[in-house]
Amino acid sequence: MRQIQHFVDGQALAGTSGRFADVFNPNTGEVQAQVALASAAELDAAVQVAARAQIGWAATNPQRRARVMFEFKRLVEARMDELAAILSSEHGKVIADSKGDIQRGLEVIEFACGIPHILKGEYTEGAGPGIDVYSMRQPLGVCAGITPFNFPGMIPMWMFGISIAVGNSFILKPSERDPTLPVRLGELLMEAGAPAGVLNVVHGDKVAVDAILHHPLIRAVSFVGSSDIASYVYSVGAANGKRVQAMGGAKNHGIILPDADLDQAVKDLIGAAYGSAGERCMALPVVVPVGARTADALREKVLAEIDTLKVGISTDPAAQYGPVVTAAHKQKIETYIQMGVDEGAELVVDGRGFSLQGYEKGFFVGPSLFDQVKPTMKTYQEEIFGPVLQIVRAETFEEALSLPSEHPYGNGVAIFTRNGRAAREFASRVNVGMVGINVPIPVPVAYHTFGGWKRSAFGDTNQHGLEGVKFYTKVKTITARWPEGAVEDSAFVIPTMK
Ligand code: NAD
Repeated sequence: MRQIQHFVDGQALAGTSGRFADVFNPNTGEVQAQVALASAAELDAAVQVAARAQIGWAATNPQRRARVMFEFKRLVEARMDELAAILSSEHGKVIADSKGDIQRGLEVIEFACGIPHILKGEYTEGAGPGIDVYSMRQPLGVCAGITPFNFPGMIPMWMFGISIAVGNSFILKPSERDPTLPVRLGELLMEAGAPAGVLNVVHGDKVAVDAILHHPLIRAVSFVGSSDIASYVYSVGAANGKRVQAMGGAKNHGIILPDADLDQAVKDLIGAAYGSAGERCMALPVVVPVGARTADALREKVLAEIDTLKVGISTDPAAQYGPVVTAAHKQKIETYIQMGVDEGAELVVDGRGFSLQGYEKGFFVGPSLFDQVKPTMKTYQEEIFGPVLQIVRAETFEEALSLPSEHPYGNGVAIFTRNGRAAREFASRVNVGMVGINVPIPVPVAYHTFGGWKRSAFGDTNQHGLEGVKFYTKVKTITARWPEGAVEDSAFVIPTMK
């Protein structure tokens, strides 16, 4: 059986804890590899390596650091087919979507290529008599990232791209369910010219996460995953004096106003609800049509689209989505579907029991559609993270606005309308972090920032963009003067700028 090793100090490192996790091929259901799970001692050894590497790296001028990012981008692009195939084989998302996952990460690397400009700092000449004031952003030291299974390319690059560009070294603890791509990214960063030890990939589960949260040399922890664990990581990390940003789960709503271009909205909705088998934190698993006529027309059009949906193995170029990540996750999704039935929602399309000829043991779930879902239902309040779309009917704009606003999660939301004023009011008032107007998956571009509200994010800085730079740096402000001539008297009063 293939063993997936850690990547520390520029080389593969066999695990010594004696603990491993199975890595599946979701298309066939077979175990294809075993990944080493680090102990606290193994994590500590990687942190010591990272701490040593960080000193020289921080002293490397920003333009040279940016050149490494440029070269890394070139290497990843040159190997896109190989990397997408690796990602797809462990995650189960189709090849085109796997390339999209990596490409969205590369867009953050492109942003990181501009780091010399971004780190220039601020300068005020003559803030007082002969006094100049300047501020600079300095790296923190060793930082860590803990990432989920659903974007094994993009989310690690969100984190290490910026953290390393500003002069930190990094410990990446990727998801144990699809760990191979993050290791390849680490190897390519070294090939691009980053010194050994600047990016270390340490695999693991709760043991490794706890070791990160308690390690005194780790200054900042970025986490993306489910909300209960995000909340745990935030509170334990913060209690240990670390900077923590912890992104959690989601339940995003698509609001359809009566004047929307319904054909376009349904096309957008289908892709956003079922793409990547619904395993996206910016998926649209809830649709809220306003008014009975809109709801009935929407339901009919959604049904027609579901009829044409092609579910297949992740390497099938005709497949629109592939299997879900594990048998356990498939089971969880199917349990939620049964729960929806038991709660009294109308199961219009049942994706359970979906089987693909020749791949009967694969982790496939067919598209499911619920109508008459009510806000009090558990299946509405909780994240299902599968190819399940729920219709929640609303009578009015106000009711449609209140649903995502009052939902415990607040990652993304989309509104479909031709009415600019209604869209503007919705965007202004909705209690959610990222809003799409006729855009179904409003993931902000790399030079803006990504982050939800409420149970979708803990901590106060977003991922990437300038907030990412702030998260991974600390500000130092220098007030300088060069006195000459007679000695001035002591000042016992706080100096002011009168
Ligand atoms: P997860 O919470 O199970 O795992 C995330 C990370 O936490 C992994 O690295 C895992 O090894 C680690 N972990 C697992 N159990 C742990 C424990 N008990 N203690 C400490 N660490 C633990 O999430 P997942 O299933 O890999 O990913 C899907 C979730 O991530 C969904 O909830 C999804 O909405 C969310 N997500 C959020 C965003 C966002 O930006 N808000 C983006 C992508 C995914």
